[in-house]
Amino acid sequence: MSEQLVFQPSAAAIARTHVTKDQYEQLYARSVSDPNGFWAEQAQRIDWMKSPTIIKNSTFQYPDVSIKWFEDGVLNISANCIDRHLVERGDQVAIIWEPDDPKAEAEYITYAKLHEKVSRCANVLKSLGVRKGDRVTIYLPMIPQAAYAMLACARIGAIHSVVFGGFSPDALAGRINDCDSKVVITADEGRRGGKTVPLKANVDKALQDAPGVEKVLVVHNTGADVLMKGSRDVWWHEAAAGVEPFCDPEPMNAEDPLFILYTSGSTGKPKGVLHTTGGYIVYASLTHQLNFDYRDGEVYWCTADVGWVTGHTYIVYGPLANGATTVMFEGIPSYPDVGRFWEVVDKHKINIFHTAPTAIRALMGAGTEWVEKADLSSLRLLGTVGEPINPEAWMWYHKNVGRGRCEIVDTWWQTETGGVLISPLPGAIATKPGSATLPFFGVEPIVLSPEGRLQEQTKAEGVLAIKESWPGQARTIWGDHSRFVSTYFETYKGYYFTGDGCRRDEDGYYWITGRVDDVLNISGHRLGTAEIESALVSHPKVSEAAVVGYPHDLKGQGIYCYVTLMSGETSDEALKIELRNWVRKEIGPIATPDLIQWAPGLPKTRSGKIMRRILRKVAENDFGSLGDTSTLADPAVVTDLIENRQNR
Ligand code: ATP
Ligand code: MG
Repeated sequence: MSEQLVFQPSAAAIARTHVTKDQYEQLYARSVSDPNGFWAEQAQRIDWMKSPTIIKNSTFQYPDVSIKWFEDGVLNISANCIDRHLVERGDQVAIIWEPDDPKAEAEYITYAKLHEKVSRCANVLKSLGVRKGDRVTIYLPMIPQAAYAMLACARIGAIHSVVFGGFSPDALAGRINDCDSKVVITADEGRRGGKTVPLKANVDKALQDAPGVEKVLVVHNTGADVLMKGSRDVWWHEAAAGVEPFCDPEPMNAEDPLFILYTSGSTGKPKGVLHTTGGYIVYASLTHQLNFDYRDGEVYWCTADVGWVTGHTYIVYGPLANGATTVMFEGIPSYPDVGRFWEVVDKHKINIFHTAPTAIRALMGAGTEWVEKADLSSLRLLGTVGEPINPEAWMWYHKNVGRGRCEIVDTWWQTETGGVLISPLPGAIATKPGSATLPFFGVEPIVLSPEGRLQEQTKAEGVLAIKESWPGQARTIWGDHSRFVSTYFETYKGYYFTGDGCRRDEDGYYWITGRVDDVLNISGHRLGTAEIESALVSHPKVSEAAVVGYPHDLKGQGIYCYVTLMSGETSDEALKIELRNWVRKEIGPIATPDLIQWAPGLPKTRSGKIMRRILRKVAENDFGSLGDTSTLADPAVVTDLIENRQNR
C-alpha cells in the first residue's frame, strides 16, 4: 500500500541541494569502494592542529573488534565549533534559546559570546581540578549552560556524560558511578512544561550513593533556595566571574574520548556508549550539513533534549561545527498548549524543524486546528528521528506542518552510530512515507536472515547489520569492551548488529520494522510490530498504537495491541471490531489483532520511545519482572495498563 507512494524531491530542493541524485550515486559508490580516499577528503572540513595521514583502521572481526579513524590527527572540537567561526561570524547567532515560559525572554547567543562563556566554564572546570581524560557528569535542563558545559569539557579534554535532567537521583547515581565522574554540573532547578524540577536536590540525593564526586558546579537558574554544601558546591556564575575569558583549546588526538552517553534503555539496562573526537566531528558535521541541506544563515531547530544523542550530534556538535544557528528549547510540545511548537517556528522563523514521531503522533491526536493557526511559511525541511514513523503520521506532518511543500527527512540511527546512517538527502533522494530510504556515504547496510544468512537480493527482509566501520561509530562501552563486542559483534560475526529488523524493497529502500526482539512470529509468519502499528494509526480514530506478542496456544504468538484514541473518540466494543477488520484489510488476515486494550497512555522512555519490553510483560501477565524501569517517563502509565489488561 504505502510503498506505492513516492515523493520526488521538489524543484526547489533540487535547485539548492549540496548533492544531486547523480552525485549521490557516484559519491556513495566511491565512499564504499575507497573509504580512505573519500574520508581523507571529507576530513578537510575540520580544522586540524595536525592533519591525519592514517584514515581508516577498523575491523569488525570477532573477537578482536577495533575501531579507529584519523588516528594520527590532532584537533580540538570546541575550537572547531567556536573559534574558527569567530573571524567571519563572531556576531552571528550561534544558539537561540527559547524558554519554557513563552512570556519569558528568549536569548540570542552569538559565536563571540559562546566563545567567552565556554572559555570561562573551561577555566572554572580546570580550577575545580578537572584534567584531560577526567569524567564530568552534566545534569542540566535545556538551558544554554548545557551546551557551554559540553563544549567546555571538549575544550580541556574532559569526557562529558550528559544525563537527562528528568532522571531520578538513583538513575543519576548509577550513571555517575559507572564512569567515575569527579565533577557534576547541575542547576538549582529546571523548568519544563510549567513545572520545576529539583535538580540540585536530586544531585544531593544521588551523591549519597556516589562518593567519588568532589565538586558540584551549580547554575543559578530559577533562583530557588537550595542547599550549598561547604567546599563541595560552587555557584557557576560566581566561579565564572573570577576566571579569564580565554582558554586555549587542548590538542586532542583523534581517538581521545569526547563523551560517554547512556542509551535510552528501550531494551534493557542502558549502555555507556563511548565516542571519540576526530571521526565523530567529521561525521556529525557532514551528516548535519547534507541531511538537512543546511546553508549559511538558516535557522535550525531540533526539539530533542541534549540528554540524548540527537541533542549531542544535531543540536550542539554538528550545527555548531557548521557555523549554524541552532535552537535550544527548554519546554515541551504541549505547554502552555499544543500549539507551542508552531508558535516557536513562527517566532524564530525556523527553516529546518526536526522532531520525533512520538511528538508528531501526539500533535496529530490533538487535531489540526493548532497547526492551522500558524503561518509556518519559514519552514523548508522537516526531520524525524527516534522511532519508525508510521506512514499516516508522515503524511500528517507533510500535509499539515509542511503544507505539502517541505522535504521530509526520516533519519535512522542510534546512540552507537554517532550520526545518521540511513536517511534521504533532500534534493537527491525521493522519499516514501515510513521509509528511512537509503544509506549515507560510507555506510553499507546489509540484511541477514535471523540465522545469519546474507540476503543478497535487493528485495529482502530480516535483521539490519552494517558491513564496515564509518567515522562516527562508537568505539566501546565505557569500562566494558567485552559487552561492546558481545552486544554488537558476536551474534552475526564480522558485522555490526543494530538490533533492529528491516525490510529492503525493490528500490533498495530500507524500512525499519522495529526491534528484532519485537518481531512477531504468528503461525510461522514473521511480522514487524511497526507494520501493524502503522495500520492501526492509519485509522482516523487512532492516534497511537503499540503492538506486542503474547503466548497463544494455536498460533505460537498472538497479536496484542495497545491503542490510544484521538482526543474525543469513544472506546467501545464496536470500535474494537472495526479496528480488527481494518488491520485485516490493510495487511492481511495473518495480522488480525487478537486482543485490543485501550491505553490512555503508553510506557515511554524519557526520550519518547515506546518500551515494548514492558508492554510484552503486561500482555504476558508477568508483572513481577518488568526489568529496568528507571528510564520510564511516567511509571503511572504502567499501573493503569496492568489494571486494564485484557482477559483471555
Ligand atoms: P537501548 O539500546 O538501551 O535499548 P535505544 O535503542 O532506544 O536504547 P537509542 O540509541 O536512543 O536507544 O535509539 C536507537 C534506536 O531507535 C534504533 O535502534 C531504532 O530502533 C530506533 N530508531 C531511531 N531512529 C529511527 C528511525 N528514523 N526509524 C526507525 N527507528 C528508529
Ligand atoms: Mg539501542
